[in-house]
Order: sequence, then structure tokens, then C-alpha cells
Amino acid sequence: MSGLPVRPELVGEVPYGAPQLDVPYCLNVNENPYPPSDKVAAEIGAAAAAAAKSMNRYPERDAVELRADLAAYLGHGLTADQVWAANGSNEVMLHVLMAFGGPGRTVLSFAPTYSMYPEYARDSHTGWTTFPRRDDFTIDPVTAVQAVTEQRPDVILIASPNNPSGTAVDLDTIRAIVDAAPGVVVVDEAYYEFVRPGTPSALELLPDYPRLAVTRTMSKAFAFAGGRLGYLAASREFVDALRVVRLPYHLSAVTQAVARVALANADELLAAVDKLRANRDALAAWLADQGLQAADSDANFVLFGRFADRQAVWQALLDKGVLIRVVGPEGWLRVSAGTDEEMAAFKAALTSVLGTEKGRLL
Ligand SMILES: *Cc1c(COP(=O)(O)O)cnc(C)c1O
Repeated sequence: MSGLPVRPELVGEVPYGAPQLDVPYCLNVNENPYPPSDKVAAEIGAAAAAAAKSMNRYPERDAVELRADLAAYLGHGLTADQVWAANGSNEVMLHVLMAFGGPGRTVLSFAPTYSMYPEYARDSHTGWTTFPRRDDFTIDPVTAVQAVTEQRPDVILIASPNNPSGTAVDLDTIRAIVDAAPGVVVVDEAYYEFVRPGTPSALELLPDYPRLAVTRTMSKAFAFAGGRLGYLAASREFVDALRVVRLPYHLSAVTQAVARVALANADELLAAVDKLRANRDALAAWLADQGLQAADSDANFVLFGRFADRQAVWQALLDKGVLIRVVGPEGWLRVSAGTDEEMAAFKAALTSVLGTEKGRLL
């Protein structure tokens, strides 16, 4: 980096992000493949136009109306002052680490997990540690509690369902970890809307634990990735700590207005979730039928493998117009659940790739 005096931990680092390529089938970043209807798109446009009329003014700093709408969407008796919102749950998580992490403090998560977590740690000068998940990507509550008790992390991040494995963490395990934690615990439920029936949300635990927070996003199930809206539910005291570290006016007037429109149309935007869940289950079963391993998933993607040369498989699929993700432990790949057409294209491409080169690739 040209000798500029950047922080030593940033030397040689490259910006995070999956390749954004113009290919027919994008199954790499777990988006909802269904765009909004013309009706909802028009409402979003009208809300943006209305916001334009007062664009000379700063937006409402505390986004109170949006937070009230988010609280109503979450239910569980939550109110606006127990909900926080920012530009994607990535920004929410950075606020958490700015408020509860920092120099001399540590954040612990359960690996393999979301690859952005260590970046928030780096950017907020928080020490990063991981404790391993079991081979099936579940968390063993006994050893997890031991690790928390010994290491005493200031912040614990638990992705449930986990990315990239799709694994949901049961509430007993979360409860055991929160009971042992000396600091705050964040359950990242970015994919919660996709869980299999009967899988409870950690929102249920909030009344018992003022140091627990649950994050969600409108980027995945909500079909609103381009709107950039993530949010968190916790105790009022927890939210007040995040309000201290946010930048002033961090949520633009347009973001607040269009996110409220999206929430008002939740039924329509979430309508494809059942379909995507069914396609995920069918995809996992199909992968297993091909003799591959497919991790049990409560999210809108499936981690599968294992390949001797996963990069070669990824490239061969890309050459056929299907973009998936190289992520997770060595040998594994992740594919998002999509439309019937996208699933057919993925299966045809993988069948063809494995047909010619199975011996070399597996
Ligand atoms: C996609 C994702 C997020 C959310 O990202 P946004 O910033 O809200 O778009 C958060 N956590 C995990 C584990 C994710 O996969």
C-alpha cells in the first residue's frame, strides 16, 4: 500500500465482498430472488419522492417511526426504544462492537461463521477469538460454556441460523452461553424467517436478559438488500449504548421512508419465503442424492462439499453462468436457494461439472 501510514493491521488487506459479476444465475449472496411487485415498487418511489421535498433538512435522527414499525413487526411486546436500526445489520454489529468492544476487549464467536465478524473486530480495535463448532456445525453447550468462563470475552456473537452452514442454535445452548457470559451476547438472526417450523427465536429470551441482543436484517427474506436496513432488539439500556456511538443522521431520510413502505408490505415481500424454504430443502436432498455432503440448513442456502479442489468447481460452474460462493472450511461451497429456474440451472451445471470430472474434483 504505497507507503501510506495506514494502521499496521490494514496493510495488505483488501475490501470485503463476494465478486459482483454479471452472470445469468447469481446464487452467491443469499438474496431473495423475487423483486418487488410494480405496486410496491411504485409505493417505494412515491415515498422517496415525498422525502425529496424536504431533502434540504437533516433526517429524523433517532428514526423513531421506523423503529416503532420494526418493533411492531417483531412483536414479543417490543417497543421502539428497545429496537435499533442502521444501514444493514453489518452497521448494527459495528455499533455493538464500538459500544461494547474496543481496545483491550475481546469478541468471541463460534467458527466457522460469518466472515465479516473478524472485520468488525479489526475495525473497532477489538481482539478476535473463536471457539470451534462440532463437525456438524452445531455448538456443544458444555465446552462452549467452559470457553466463555475461561476466556471471559466482552462480546459474544452467535449466528443462528449460522452463515455459512445454515445451522440454527437451540435456545438452551444460547441460554447457557448467556448465563456464563460476563459481557454482552448478540444472536445474529439474519436468516430467521427461513427457519424450519418450530425453531424458536432468541427474541423469546430478551425479557430475561438485559445483556442479550438479537439482530435481524431486511436484506435476505425481506427482499430489501438494496434498501440497506438492519436492526436489533434488546433492552432499552443496550439500545441507548448504541445511540451513543452512531454517527449523527446515519439513516438517510430516503432509507427511513422506503424501509417503512417495505415493512407496511411485509406480507407481500415475505410471500416467497415458503417457496425458498421448499427449494432449499429440495436442493439439500438433491445434493445428498449426488453423493455429496450437504449441511442441514435453516437459512436460504446450503453448504455442500467436500471437494478436493473447490475453486475449480466454483470456476467450472461460473463458466456455465452459475455464480455461487467459495466460503466455509476447506472443501465446501455455498449455494443460495433461488427460483425453480435458478435451481434447475444450478443442478444442470453441477451435474455436468461432476459428470466429466468427478474423480478429480471429489
Ligand atoms: C447477510 C448477513 C447479514 C446482514 O447483512 P446486511 O448488512 O443487513 O445486509 C448479517 N449477518 C449474517 C450472518 C449474514 O449472512
